[in-house]
Amino acid sequence: MENQQKHQYTLIILKPDALVKSLTGNIITRLSEARLRITAARVTRVSKELAEKHYAHLIDKPFFSDLYDYFSGKVYGGEYERVLAFVYEGEDAINRVRKIAGQTNPNDADPISIRGAYGRINKKGIMENVIHCSDSEESAEKEIKLWFAPDDIIEEVYPTVIKDMSGVQARVWA
Ligand code: UDP
Ligand code: MG
Repeated sequence: MENQQKHQYTLIILKPDALVKSLTGNIITRLSEARLRITAARVTRVSKELAEKHYAHLIDKPFFSDLYDYFSGKVYGGEYERVLAFVYEGEDAINRVRKIAGQTNPNDADPISIRGAYGRINKKGIMENVIHCSDSEESAEKEIKLWFAPDDIIEEVYPTVIKDMSGVQARVWA
């Protein structure tokens, strides 16, 4: 049916500049306009390996190394080397969030959008645009599986299997 909107999951990352600028609350408030639900959330560091998988489509660009320095928070110094990652779910989640986030280049983005309001281009030419959001169902699935383990998400978003991990060492509280 034409107007029927699809239930979707999308990966959202508040990039290090969102944390440096103390925008976490503002951005989450803006995202509530999309009328979606948070299904998973975590704070994490961005390893080179994770960045290369997440931005695989940009790995051959000459700016990839500067992009990593931004995305990992290295440009802001040790205490900001972290991001906040979320899975949001709901009707038409991917497009609703992309619309509120705005265009990739903060200079082109609607000034009312998150990227238009809070983004900038840094001295290296990298678009510091405070938020990542999946751009299709295919990338949402790839990205959610990259950033979250099944048990970190409160719903069964994609099929899982049970693997016998006996013999594997894990760190637990002492
Ligand atoms: N980016 C950049 N310069 C470019 C293209 C991308 O600095 O010419 C950065 C920017 O931070 C962007 C991210 O790389 O958000 C990922 O790029 P993509 O084309 O996937 O844009 P997005 O999906 O984030 O809108
Ligand atoms: Mg993208």
